Amino acid sequence: MTKILIIGGGTAGITVAAQLIRKLKKVHIELFEPSKYHYYQPLYTLVGAGTDKKEKTIKETSKLIPKGVIWNQQKILGFKPKENIVIGEDCKEYVYDYLIVAPGIQLNWHLVKGLTETMGKNGVCSVYGYQESEETFSSLKAFKGGNALFTSPNTPVKCGGAPQKIMYLTEAYLRKKGLRNTTNVIFASGGSKLFSVPGYTEALQKIIDNRKIKTHFSHNLIKVDGQKKEATFTVKMFEGDQQVGMEEKIISFDLLHVAPPQSAPDIITESELAIQDGKLKGWLNVDHYTLQHNSFPNVFGLGDVCGLPTGKTGAAIRKQVPVVVNNVQRLLERKEVNGKFKYNGYSACPILTDYKHVLMAEFEYGYKPKSSFFFDTTKPRWSMYLLKHFYLPWYYWNRMLKGRN
Ligand SMILES: Cc1cc2nc3c(=O)[nH]c(=O)nc-3n(C[C@H](O)[C@H](O)[C@H](O)COP(=O)(O)OP(=O)(O)OC[C@H]3O[C@@H](n4cnc5c(N)ncnc54)[C@H](O)[C@@H]3O)c2cc1C
Repeated sequence: MTKILIIGGGTAGITVAAQLIRKLKKVHIELFEPSKYHYYQPLYTLVGAGTDKKEKTIKETSKLIPKGVIWNQQKILGFKPKENIVIGEDCKEYVYDYLIVAPGIQLNWHLVKGLTETMGKNGVCSVYGYQESEETFSSLKAFKGGNALFTSPNTPVKCGGAPQKIMYLTEAYLRKKGLRNTTNVIFASGGSKLFSVPGYTEALQKIIDNRKIKTHFSHNLIKVDGQKKEATFTVKMFEGDQQVGMEEKIISFDLLHVAPPQSAPDIITESELAIQDGKLKGWLNVDHYTLQHNSFPNVFGLGDVCGLPTGKTGAAIRKQVPVVVNNVQRLLERKEVNGKFKYNGYSACPILTDYKHVLMAEFEYGYKPKSSFFFDTTKPRWSMYLLKHFYLPWYYWNRMLKGRN
């Protein structure tokens, strides 16, 4: 019987398992996932802002594994793609005919000196975690004014809009609590701009200007001193467009929200499956359109781990999964992978601009705007807020993870 192994039971792993088992007959599908729990991460921002309890984002993995799929509850520690083998935590070798790699992204908290020691204390918080998202709201409630500093790293991140979402929500919260006049809201990003998609960038800039939020770009957080309430950044210095050096800069804070540096998981970066050089070095080396591995044709990639020049989101995965399912099916039928039914880089980022509005940014490769709606989505809307807060979580648990569109 054909053996399909899936690495990772997050958004991508469960969704692809559910679609494969619906479509394919007489296949052995085995999913490797160590975690007892599965998380709906897009709600973390609203947990951080206090509208939802963290328990709303979690379900037991056992309840989500599609019927007919075998759950192997362990981590994969290595790959031997030339031999069609993955190595489990149990030191056993598992042979496959097809492999789908979806272990997500790695949060590198340790790369910011002092961060793990102070996370959840001294006003330092993050919505990039289940426990941490709840602690974010505690930090917010304890804040009494001063510098509210929000950082974004110089690496790719999952949901590139999340560091801004929690900032806009916090700003709205502070206005409601009468603390805005005594607070400086500051956005310090390792990137070079606010957002990469034309139209949405200008709309977000308008919000930044109207709400008097200070922005600093090319500021990469490297150290946090929770006791002294100081955040240290390396800052690129420019003369015109030319970078002429780097300097360290300290910004003091009373509230610090951190989006940690992120990378592909070490098991990928250290393997033959990774891109070996260039800007996307270390990420999974898949074709941008077919999601087939560029060196090993029986390997496919899905989700945050992939070296794709687009936003890393669950919305992207919704469009990626049918492409991989179709291509695996074609290979099983001894056909070529389909160059026509392809992934076009679609991703979406519903940016919460306050407790009632969402700016729904949708785009494709080249960061080209691609709206699914007939109205202007560069305008923050209540309808998009309802979609984000209520419809999308329902859709995720009841449709997407069950392999339905
Ligand atoms: C704060 C925040 C807000 C977000 N907002 C949005 C949003 O509004 N809209 C949106 O579309 N997306 C959003 N996202 C992004 C979205 O959650 C991710 O893009 C998506 O979950 C990625 O799915 P994935 O399957 O690639 O990874 P994950 O869902 O993270 O799953 C990876 C799985 O792989 C497992 N794994 C890891 N290593 C191994 C191994 N060695 N062996 C076996 N298994 C392994 C892990 O345990 C995990 O279960 C947000 C994310 C965050 C953090």
